[in-house]
Amino acid sequence: MALRVIASSKNIKNIVKTIEGNFMRCLATAADNKNIGFIGLGNMGGHMATNLMKKGHKLHVYDVSKPACEAVRAKGAKIADLSEIAKMDYVITMLPNNDIVYNTFEELMKKDINKNALFIDSSTIDPNVVKSIQKIVKAKGARFVDAPVSGGVPGAEQATLTFMVGGTVDEYNAVKPVLEGMGKRITHCGSYGMGQAAKLANNMMLAISMIGVSEAMNLAIRLGLDAQTFADIINSSTGRCWSSEMYNPVPGIVKTAPANFGYSGGFSTDLITKDLGLASGVATASNTPIPMGALAHQIYRTLKSQGLGNKDFSVVYDFMKNESNN
Ligand code: NAD
Repeated sequence: MALRVIASSKNIKNIVKTIEGNFMRCLATAADNKNIGFIGLGNMGGHMATNLMKKGHKLHVYDVSKPACEAVRAKGAKIADLSEIAKMDYVITMLPNNDIVYNTFEELMKKDINKNALFIDSSTIDPNVVKSIQKIVKAKGARFVDAPVSGGVPGAEQATLTFMVGGTVDEYNAVKPVLEGMGKRITHCGSYGMGQAAKLANNMMLAISMIGVSEAMNLAIRLGLDAQTFADIINSSTGRCWSSEMYNPVPGIVKTAPANFGYSGGFSTDLITKDLGLASGVATASNTPIPMGALAHQIYRTLKSQGLGNKDFSVVYDFMKNESNN
């Protein structure tokens, strides 16, 4: 700042710019070599930990599954226990659900933790659980943010995830360089739990739109319309959305969509059902009407009960098509 005030000529301004640029690069490099603890090395976490190593970070990893640990160790990580992980500069968790995330933090906080550490939970969980975790981490003198992700397994693999961060501005600025090693878009959503609030509201809308596209496609096809013709009409009309354009649930419309691969891979019915359950819980607690979200939740629960839990969530189209043939 002071340098800027005395800079009168263009040349001096350019020199100041260069110094500032070098300073920022130094800061970025400093963030490149952190000791990072990573807990939960499943479909998402395994890739995320691997991408952090590619950025030069030292990874100390833990998972209850030995094969999951071994897979990441083979890429250069050190397998560690919770006591070792509690001493890292950053600790990232990528775990299945509320209880497992909360219990893991309870265990971590019993350890001798690094008080300068920043704990980052990227799992999808209830924003209220986030607030409880933040309190127990703060009580130990460390910092915590929620940073759930969107982008699925391909996004985790290609380091193109979107992170939705809940925490203070300072905490957001401190976690951003690390999250950039795993994602493309890092957005500060507000205070603790707001990352999860954004994630749950988005996924509720995604489920509703997928069911809507499936219903409309099925109706149009049964009325005699050609599937491609109708998809083209939606995608240049008011019905257009990500589910119709990028991820159409009818086979043959979008080459890369799971519909063309027997609804395998992609984003599972189990996971969207979990997210809709979380959205229903927070909607009830905040007295917010979500009639469509609640119905979407029940529809996906039905799909799960029909054995479709491990299929991509666009399988809802196939389910409706078969139902209409009954
Ligand atoms: P996953 O089931 O593949 O991985 C979870 C990992 O956690 C497993 O390796 C499991 O062994 C491990 N684990 C379970 N309990 C543990 C414990 N107590 N301690 C240590 N490790 C433990 O799940 P995933 O698909 O990687 O998803 C992780 C989180 O990310 C979930 O909350 C999910 O909702 C969210 N998410 C997933 C996707 C996706 O497309 N898969 C997308 C966005 C968000």
